[in-house]
Amino acid sequence: MIPKPRFLQRRINEVAIGTFREIATVQESASVYDALTMFVERRVSALPVVDDKGKVVALYSRFDVINLAAQKNYNNLNMTMREAVSSRACCMEGVLKCYPHETLETVIDRIAKAEVHRLVLVDRDDVVRGIVSLSDLLQALVLTPAGIDALENTSE
Ligand code: AMP
Repeated sequence: MIPKPRFLQRRINEVAIGTFREIATVQESASVYDALTMFVERRVSALPVVDDKGKVVALYSRFDVINLAAQKNYNNLNMTMREAVSSRACCMEGVLKCYPHETLETVIDRIAKAEVHRLVLVDRDDVVRGIVSLSDLLQALVLTPAGIDALENTSE
């Protein structure tokens, strides 16, 4: 068996793979319209939904906006994020998180097993501290070592 690179055993906050500052979030009391505005202004593909203490309660992605259109709910952009999240037809219960002390390997495994695009990095109080996205992993593990520069912010 090929030994695993030691790198994988390092903590996610040490290897600094992900975004750890100026995370775009949306309050659960904010409207879908607010979230759409945030998607456009910040050009991110997903927003952690937070309560008034900054704790993450859900994740709202561009993909959810497509579902909104599919459910013909797009005439109700005044709906709160809380309502939008709870009316989601599909699957996602809760939000997939990771913690700063967890290893890169744990983070990669969690993303792969859950087949998600990103994890929300939180502190022990569940307050949002960062995002670790597939794009970040691709950049750090494949593109940068191959001498290929920053990936354009892709949309989902
Ligand atoms: P993605 O849109 O998930 O492919 O990620 C593109 C880049 O944006 C990555 O560096 C992510 O870490 C970062 N990113 C994703 N979502 C957010 C967010 N809500 N706030 C700040 N940065 C983000």
